[in-house]
Amino acid sequence: MQFAEFAARAAEIEAEPADLAVVSLLSDLFRDAGDDLPTVARFVQGRVFPAWDSTTLDIGPRLCHEAIARAAGPNVSADDVEDRLADRGEIGAVAASYDFGGQRGLAAFGSGGQDGLTVAEVDSELRALAAASGSGSEETKLKTLYGLFNRTDPDEARFLARLVLSEMRIGVGEGTVRDAVAEAFLVDPADAAAIRDDDADSETEDAARTSRNEAIAAVARALQVSNDYGMVAELARDEGEAGLDGVRLEVGRPVQAMLAQAGTAADALDEWETAAVETKFDGARVQVHRDVDGEVSLFSRNMEDVTGALPEVVEFVADAVDEPVILDGEVVAMDDDGEPLPFQEILRRFRRKHDVGRMREEVRVELRAFDCLHAGGDDLLTDPLSARHDRLTAVLGGDSAAVSDLLLSDDAEEIAAYEADALDAGHEGIMLKNPDAPYSPGDRGKNWLKRKPDVETLDLVVTGAEWGEGRRAEFLGTFLLSARVEADSGDDAFETIGKVATGITDEELAELTDLLEPEIEREAGKEVDIRPSVVFEVGYEEIQASPTYSSGYALRFPRFVTVREDKTAETADSLARVERLAESQ
Ligand code: ATP
Repeated sequence: MQFAEFAARAAEIEAEPADLAVVSLLSDLFRDAGDDLPTVARFVQGRVFPAWDSTTLDIGPRLCHEAIARAAGPNVSADDVEDRLADRGEIGAVAASYDFGGQRGLAAFGSGGQDGLTVAEVDSELRALAAASGSGSEETKLKTLYGLFNRTDPDEARFLARLVLSEMRIGVGEGTVRDAVAEAFLVDPADAAAIRDDDADSETEDAARTSRNEAIAAVARALQVSNDYGMVAELARDEGEAGLDGVRLEVGRPVQAMLAQAGTAADALDEWETAAVETKFDGARVQVHRDVDGEVSLFSRNMEDVTGALPEVVEFVADAVDEPVILDGEVVAMDDDGEPLPFQEILRRFRRKHDVGRMREEVRVELRAFDCLHAGGDDLLTDPLSARHDRLTAVLGGDSAAVSDLLLSDDAEEIAAYEADALDAGHEGIMLKNPDAPYSPGDRGKNWLKRKPDVETLDLVVTGAEWGEGRRAEFLGTFLLSARVEADSGDDAFETIGKVATGITDEELAELTDLLEPEIEREAGKEVDIRPSVVFEVGYEEIQASPTYSSGYALRFPRFVTVREDKTAETADSLARVERLAESQ
């Protein structure tokens, strides 16, 4: 598929306001994509790599602006690009506003389109760019990007710029892709038409909806297990539902973590009569994969590969486990007496790429596993929790401290005593789980409840900052925070809720500046806009209704707690959570 064709279709989807019509346009695009289907299924979400693959293009806004400036000609600088960005508000519109020559120049020689970019070419160039590392890689990236922009017409440039910054903004989220894959390859066209037809009789429409929902469920399951939209789209096309049903967990390919809601022992016992009670460890989520050859890899809750940062966990698993497994758990920091250390300590280890050996001396970490998703060739997702926990015990050994201690109880007092012990031992609280529930990847359902006495904090996205004054002029000082507005179909939006400048040491300011500077989108005087990517955990006294910020809320006395390195803008707290907290005050 020509990239121009992809861009034209993306523009059409962007202009379509109705969800069902978007699904229909997207399913047409999938049907027409031929060999490029896997790539197209990723590109529409602004992805080059599958969701499970933590490879990134590592292109910050600055680099992208520079590449656009170069392609736009000798009189254009990155500053000009940023000025236009301030005017137009969005990088796609900026890229489309320049004349890169693109295909028009060639058309003048009667060969229009022949040298046009293809989807496959954009994909392979961006993959090559992602592989560039070490000194000079910045320049290599710039050259590749410049080369690509140079060959685009305005429509292509619009979507290329958005793709490289992973923000397609065409109203296509994961749910839309899921539905469109089902509609393109699994749903009977007559059923799709009956759902859209206002005059269809209700019996026909109900039957059509049921079969569409079944097809969507088959796609959803395959996606939960694989996190690979490209592969799932191709399988749905080539092998239908039977092919999707055959998708298995694969050791080495991370699965989305199952999440928890807040809840109490009374909620748990009302719902299930017997609850599985566990310590809530105050660490960082880790998914452990050990393959047939004994190779161990570790993934964060965002499915990022953190193997290199946690060598002692790798060594422990390599030693303790002798079959292929996928385990879910928490990595916790310990003091010399084996007492848990606060969460901030683990963040000094997690995702670390440098000085791992030295930090290993300073902060000791251990695994606490609480679930087993796969063992010895068996996928266990649909097994009940109690059976999965038995399997976990068999994998790691009955008396291993690495296995969570799971209490089955129908007695509120017994649970209260367990909770008191957990808190006494320095843990964060307890987890209450439905012992009969399957493992549902990515789901924050009612089957896992978390209970912790601590005052709530919020995990908010940094969307702006101000340069400091005097001694601190080199550093970003005051940080603008935003809550995520969940968009089921499409990119999340971010609404501001307050500024934080309290609770940050000089040393932290320097680190935060290093972290945030590459994400600056534009500057106006002392104020900068920052691409939503870094998440701060923030404490506060109270959430107030306030017209000052776009969310309609403001935080009273916000204070910086830490950078949530284990979270991304997409997993930051939502405005819906802010609203719930505000109501419950
Ligand atoms: P959220 O997961 O709600 O977005 P969060 O990251 O702040 O917010 P918590 O509120 O701490 O998470 O609760 C869920 C997390 O608790 C899990 O993601 C996991 O990392 C951790 N956890 C600790 N012990 C357990 C356990 N025994 N079972 C499941 N999760 C546990």
